[in-house]
Amino acid sequence: MPSPDSLRSAIRDVVDFPKPGIIFKDITPILSDAGLFRDSITLLCDTAGGQKIDKVVGIDARGFIFAAAVADRLGAGFVPVRKKGKLPWETRQMSYSLEYGESVVEIHRDAVAPGETVLLIDDLLATGGTAAAALALLDQLGANVVGVAFLLELGFLNGREKLGGHKIESILVFD
Ligand code: 5GP
Repeated sequence: MPSPDSLRSAIRDVVDFPKPGIIFKDITPILSDAGLFRDSITLLCDTAGGQKIDKVVGIDARGFIFAAAVADRLGAGFVPVRKKGKLPWETRQMSYSLEYGESVVEIHRDAVAPGETVLLIDDLLATGGTAAAALALLDQLGANVVGVAFLLELGFLNGREKLGGHKIESILVFD
C-alpha cells in the first residue's frame, strides 16, 4: 500500500487564496505526478474496504477528478454533484451555508437508484457544509452511502461532525 507521506509533502500551501487570510491547500502537484496520482487513487479505493460500490459520487470540481478515477478502478459508475445551474436535466437541490451567504448543489434525480451502494468523494473536508449537502441529496434519492472519503481533512475545523453517522476516511489529516 502506498505511503500517504509522499502525498502530504506534495501539497502546496497557497497564502491568501482565494481571498486574504485563507491558506489554500493546492492538490494539483499530486495530479501532475503520475505516481502520486495513482497512489492517491489506490488509497481512496482502499477506503471502500472491498465492498461492492455501485456509484462513486464526486463533488464539484476537484472531487470529480478523484471520484472518476476511483469509479473506473472499482468498476463503478460515476455521478457528479454540481454547483447550481450546471446539470442539464431534472435535479434535486440542496442549499448550504458558506462563511458569507449560501450555495446550492444539485444531483440528477435519477443518478442513483434507491438502495444502490455509494462512495462519496471530495478532495478536501473543511467545515463539512459541502459534503453534508451532498449527503442530504443522496439521502433524498435513497442511496445506501457506505463510505465518505477525502484526500485531505482540515481536522481543526471539525467538519466530520456535520456528516452524521457515516463512515468517514481521510487519507491525510492536517491539524
Ligand atoms: P467545506 O464545505 O467542507 O467547508 O469546504 C470543502 C469544499 O471546499 C471542497 O469541495 C473543497 O474542494 C473546497 N475547499 C475549501 N478549502 C479548500 C482548500 O484549501 N483546498 C482545496 N483543494 N479545496 C478546498
